[in-house]
Amino acid sequence: MDEFKNKNIIVIGAGPAGLTAGFEISKTKRFNVNILEKDKVVGGLSKTTVYNGCKFDIGPHHFLTHSDKVEVWWKKVMEGESKKGNKFIHLKRFTRIYYKRHFFHYPLQALDAILGLGLLEGFLCVLSYIKIRLFPIKKVESFQDWVTNQFGYRLFSIFFKTYTEKVWGINCNQISSDWASERIKGFSLSKAIFYAFFGKFFKKNAPRTLADTFYYPELGAGTLWSKTADIILENNNSQITLNEKVIQIKHEDKNIKSILTYNTSLGVHALKKFNEHICDFVFSTMPLRDLILALDPLPEEIVISAANKLSYRGLITVNLIVNKKNICPDHWLYIHEKTVEMGRVGNMNNFSLKMSDNKNHTALSLEYFSFVDSDFWNKSDTELLELGKIELEKIGLVNKNLILNGMILREHEAYPVYDKNYKENLNIVKNYLLKFNNLYLMGRNGLHQYNNMDIAMLSAFDATEKFLGNFDRENIYLAGHKKNIELNL
Ligand SMILES: Cc1cc2nc3c(=O)[nH]c(=O)nc-3n(C[C@H](O)[C@H](O)[C@H](O)COP(=O)(O)OP(=O)(O)OC[C@H]3O[C@@H](n4cnc5c(N)ncnc54)[C@H](O)[C@@H]3O)c2cc1C
Repeated sequence: MDEFKNKNIIVIGAGPAGLTAGFEISKTKRFNVNILEKDKVVGGLSKTTVYNGCKFDIGPHHFLTHSDKVEVWWKKVMEGESKKGNKFIHLKRFTRIYYKRHFFHYPLQALDAILGLGLLEGFLCVLSYIKIRLFPIKKVESFQDWVTNQFGYRLFSIFFKTYTEKVWGINCNQISSDWASERIKGFSLSKAIFYAFFGKFFKKNAPRTLADTFYYPELGAGTLWSKTADIILENNNSQITLNEKVIQIKHEDKNIKSILTYNTSLGVHALKKFNEHICDFVFSTMPLRDLILALDPLPEEIVISAANKLSYRGLITVNLIVNKKNICPDHWLYIHEKTVEMGRVGNMNNFSLKMSDNKNHTALSLEYFSFVDSDFWNKSDTELLELGKIELEKIGLVNKNLILNGMILREHEAYPVYDKNYKENLNIVKNYLLKFNNLYLMGRNGLHQYNNMDIAMLSAFDATEKFLGNFDRENIYLAGHKKNIELNL
C-alpha cells in the first residue's frame, strides 16, 4: 500500500517554477496537488495578455536553454498545440542597442560599433580597455568593478551603466558583482571581439549572452504555461486555484501545517473570509520576504529584519498598438539613452506575426523599471500611455499619431535586487527556513535569484526530484531539500 497516497501538496505560485513542480508531482498520481495563485491567470512573469486583438508578454519572453531536459520538456508540452495554430517556432535573434541616436548591433559587431561610436571614441575605448588589462581593479565588489575589468571603463559607461541603472534604480557601484558574473559570465571584450569577427564559425560554443536563435510559442510565451496548466488539470487529484493569495503560513514543530489565503477577486469583502488549506508539503515560489512575513508564529526579529531588507524592483510595461507594420526589425531594442525613461522596447510582431490579429498593426511593449513606492509607480495609466507615446517619437521609432491605443501592466516584484548586502540578508533568511522539514523553495523570487524561465524550472525539477526520490525513505522529513536550497542560493 502507498502510505503517502493522497498527501496534500500545496504549491505557491503558478509561474514557470510552480507549474513545473505541479506538473512533475501530479503526473505521479500519488498526491493531491493544489497550486495557489494570486493572479487571475497562470504564467507569472511569463504570462501573455490579450488586448484589442494584440498579445503582449511582460517583455517578450524567448525560450532558450542549455538544458536538454528543459528543451525536451517545452517541446513535449507544445506537442499538439500546432493543431491549434500555435507552433513552437525557432527564431533568429535580432537585437540592437539605441545610444546617442544610433542603433548598435547586439552582440557587438566590430565594424558597426566602431562606425557608430566614431573612430576617436572607438580608439579611446580600446585605450581604456588596455589600461584596465594592465591595472585591473583588484578588489571586485560591485557590478561596475566587474564589468570595467572585463571591458574597460569607457565601454562600461556606454553599453552597461545607463541601462543597468534604469533596471535596478541604484548606482552600478552599489550593485553586487554577483549579478554581472551570473548574467554575463564567460563574456569579455576579447570574446566579444572574437565572436564579432569569427562568431559564424563557432556558434555552438558561444556564451549564452551571444546565442543567436531561440524558440517561441506562436501565440505568446504564456500559452506554453496555460497548456502546462491544462495538462496538470487532466489529473483528477490536481487543482489550480486562481485569485488566491497566500497571506499566512501556520507552522508547528518545524512543519508547516496549513496555509491561509483570501480571494483577491472579492475586493474589500475578501478580508472577511479566509480559506484554510491543510498541507503535508509546501513548494513555494512566492517572494522570500513575503514568505517570512506570512509565517505564524513569526520568526525572531533578526530574521524579520533581514527579510524586510530583501528588495524588489517593479516593472511597468506600456503596451501600445501602432497602426503601422515593419516598425523595426528588432526583437528587443535596449535604450541606453538618459534622455528617455524607458529601458527596453519589445516588438511582439517580430516574435510571431500572430501576436497581432490585424496584419497592419504592430504590438510594442515598452519597459519602465521602478520601485513600487516611487512617484513614477503611482502615475496614472493615462500619464504612462502618454509618456510611452512621447518617448517612442523622441527616439524616432514611431510617430505619436500612429499609436491607436494601449494598456498598462504592473509587476510589483519583477526583479529580486542584488544590492551589496543582499547576500548577508539572504543567508539569514535561508538559514532560518532550513529548519522546516516540509518546505521546498524554488524559482526566481522563491530563491531570490535573478534567473530565466529555464533556471526557474531547473530549480523546480531539483526540488521535486529530491522530494520524490526521498519519499520512499524511512525518514521522509529529512528529505534532501536542505541540500537543494544550498545548491540554488
Ligand atoms: C521583463 C522581463 C523579461 C523576461 N524575459 C525572459 C526571457 O526572455 N526568457 C526567459 O527565459 N525568462 C525571462 N524572464 C524571466 C522569467 O519571467 C522568470 O524567470 C520566470 O517567470 C520565473 O518563474 P517563477 O515561477 O520562479 O516566478 P514568477 O514567474 O514570478 O511566478 C511566481 C508566481 O507566484 C505568484 N505569487 C507570488 N506571491 C504569491 C502569494 N502570496 N500567493 C499566491 N501566489 C503568489 C505570482 O503571482 C506569480 O504568478 C523575464 C523577466 C522579466 C521581468
